[in-house]
Amino acid sequence: MGNEADSQVRTEKMALTGYNLSDLRERGAIVCVVGLGRSGLAAAEFLLRRGLKIRGLELAMTAEMQDAWAPLAALGAELITGPHPTDALAGCGLLVRSPGVPAEVPILEAARAQGIPIRSELGLAASEVRTPLVAITGTNGKSTTTAWTAHLLRSAGIPAVTAGNIGRPLAAALLEEGKDTVFVAEVSSFQLEDSPELHPRAAAILNITPDHLDRHGSLAVYRALKWAITANQGTGDRLVLGPDVVPSGGQVVRAEVVRCAPERTADLTDALFPHEGWLCHRSEQREERLLSLDALALPGPHNLLNGMVAAALAAPLVPDYAALLGGLQDFPGLPHRLEEVGRIGAVRLINDSKATNIDALRVALQSFAPPLVLIAGGRDKGAPFEELRDLATARVRHLVALGEAAETIRAAWPELSSETAADMNDAVQRALAAAAGKGTVLLSPGCASFDMYRNYEERGDDFRNVVTGSSRAAASPVPGKE
Ligand code: ADP
Repeated sequence: MGNEADSQVRTEKMALTGYNLSDLRERGAIVCVVGLGRSGLAAAEFLLRRGLKIRGLELAMTAEMQDAWAPLAALGAELITGPHPTDALAGCGLLVRSPGVPAEVPILEAARAQGIPIRSELGLAASEVRTPLVAITGTNGKSTTTAWTAHLLRSAGIPAVTAGNIGRPLAAALLEEGKDTVFVAEVSSFQLEDSPELHPRAAAILNITPDHLDRHGSLAVYRALKWAITANQGTGDRLVLGPDVVPSGGQVVRAEVVRCAPERTADLTDALFPHEGWLCHRSEQREERLLSLDALALPGPHNLLNGMVAAALAAPLVPDYAALLGGLQDFPGLPHRLEEVGRIGAVRLINDSKATNIDALRVALQSFAPPLVLIAGGRDKGAPFEELRDLATARVRHLVALGEAAETIRAAWPELSSETAADMNDAVQRALAAAAGKGTVLLSPGCASFDMYRNYEERGDDFRNVVTGSSRAAASPVPGKE
């Protein structure tokens, strides 16, 4: 409770303390950028190029940061490395906080006490965007939906790029892109904490399930932060909501709401939903069938939601939904998320290395028709695999378990035929043998990758390389027989 109250107070205080870049420039005030990761560096460069004085603060500079900082230093930026000195805020009129910097660090407390506004790089850059801004938040599916929305817009002839949490910071994208570019920003709850001016033309909240509670203190605070994405929206804006997202904390919604629902129900007014094998749209005037569900680019009910949300976000910027149908069908998806990496004979091989928890594993299992051979396991985070026992037993023909969690998963699904593999190559060979020439082999670990890899990308790349090697071997004649 203490945490929740503190955080609310913080949010209120921040909202009261405004800033104005021209005013800061005229006063010769310094902008302190705390944390010089990608987003901090982008903010520093963005502000320098707008004529502001910059002081970068970083506890531990890496060689990469040093290289990136050099051109900024040449433009006059000041740098403080190591622990923050007591006069770190001298002359400071605005503080840019990197997403990784916890709210409780003394320099932020000091800035608050002195009435210095604190902003995220994303919020700061968003205020400078002069084209309609699209912003997406939620617990799961943000990156996919962000990339899909930008893809839909580009397919409809609009120059759109992704930015924010998905990769390139918005401040960097703004510096690099042309004046007509539309930005589709993935926004995390951390960024929403310090972006009180954020005003997207179209915003989405995909879903809200407990996550990052260690940092936000409670589900109520986390939920309130997600809803902050709509705080400045007015009647000319659009808010797209996933099925389970309903205003619960007294939020006032002024934007036009479009709901994305799992089925057609009478109470829906402006909405997208699946019905009788079709993706449908209902407005106050009419209901229309947009696209056969089979034609949707990505598999699974979660991707149906992501596609619906992307379409509802893109729609206000294009003449009608018909302009989006091509992009709903040919979006290639993102790497490591239910990504098809090859076919060996009639067997499809799917890389879902991003599935680092059991929720992601659950949606993966729901996304493919049996027969399915599953490769799962990795760093054991104590996840309750028993919860997926019925689903796995119904859907999976054979399990190849991998990594530290291998025996835990096998024990949690005792009815399932299973074996343990030594490494990724061994796992793929065992999975292909079990598939016996048909169905799908799915890598969806349901665990972190750190027992065997540096990150989930490296794990997915290893899987892809093994699959590519195996498909080459399957296609080429056996050595010695030529
Ligand atoms: P995020 O950026 O929010 O982490 P991603 O698009 O990267 O989301 O997807 C991460 C994982 O979350 C995917 O591998 C998939 O298993 C799962 N996922 C994707 N979309 C959804 C959704 N709409 N609801 C629930 N889970 C999802």
